[in-house]
Amino acid sequence: MQKKISILIPIYNEEGNIVTITNALHKVLMPLPYNYEIIFVDDGSEDNSLNEIKELTQQQSNIFFISFSKNFGHQNAIKAGFDMVTGECVISMDGDMQHPPTLIPLLLKKWEEGYDIVYTIRKDHMEMPILKRRTSEMFYNVMNKLSDIELESGTADFRLMDKSVISVAKNFQEDDLFWRGLIKWMGFSQIGIEYEPAQRLKGKSKYTFKKMLQFALRGITSFSIKPLGIAIYLGFLFALLSLLYVPYVLYSVYFGHPISGWASLIVTIVFFGGLQLMILGIIGMYLGKLFMQSKQRPHYIIKETNLK
Ligand code: UDP
Ligand code: MG
Repeated sequence: MQKKISILIPIYNEEGNIVTITNALHKVLMPLPYNYEIIFVDDGSEDNSLNEIKELTQQQSNIFFISFSKNFGHQNAIKAGFDMVTGECVISMDGDMQHPPTLIPLLLKKWEEGYDIVYTIRKDHMEMPILKRRTSEMFYNVMNKLSDIELESGTADFRLMDKSVISVAKNFQEDDLFWRGLIKWMGFSQIGIEYEPAQRLKGKSKYTFKKMLQFALRGITSFSIKPLGIAIYLGFLFALLSLLYVPYVLYSVYFGHPISGWASLIVTIVFFGGLQLMILGIIGMYLGKLFMQSKQRPHYIIKETNLK
């Protein structure tokens, strides 16, 4: 009996890309000695994506779909896939052809060699927008400094996971899922391989700058509580600095020099006001996470699927 592998593809407004990626996958997978299924998770697309997927499922018996009741986000779409897949291993990838299907044989080879997780590292090349490259680099730097996990720059949600990994991952109940961090954190035997990303086939990236920033903040606050300690260090620092001011004040009083200082007062007040609000904001963010988590809402709602 041939082993079955599952390909998992989250889709949000990817019309025009779906047939192309399916054909590319068939081309790569057909010659390999595996059974395979392709699962599209339609994350509340507003274009023709779902119809394109459904049409494929009618023509080909190894294509499946899960369709959400609205847009729940990329990471939740991956979670839905984890909950439903049946393969001996799962390969998750984007639906826009940026993750080259031709890399799949190599992922499978590493899996056959005994690795439980084969993740991929995007080699950033010049064609990528400079802003995206820099912000992405910055994110991985901050993430690695603040958290206990070490993420290589450019690890995206293109990876192979053994079913033993999936069976653990799908039980994660945390609200803000950040898979690339969670998977790294899980351990098992992991290996990373590099690849050259391709251009997005059709459509626009769903990660606008604002969304990327939110995603980065979610990632960092999911993996580290270090920002909560910032207030302590800053508090100490400024308390110490203020001590340096004491001799000057004493001197001025003693020798009868008037201390003028409307400007310096205002600057100090505004500075510390800002600092305090910033720290409050950080605390608020963690509190908000706790609040959302306490509701225990489902990660996604399935409206329709052809999976059993
Ligand atoms: N995606 C999704 N839900 C979302 C946003 C994106 O399922 O809310 C999917 C999208 O269709 C694609 C993958 O996640 O298959 C990665 O998105 P995108 O290519 O826009 O991100 P980028 O490659 O630009 O970082
Ligand atoms: Mg993409």
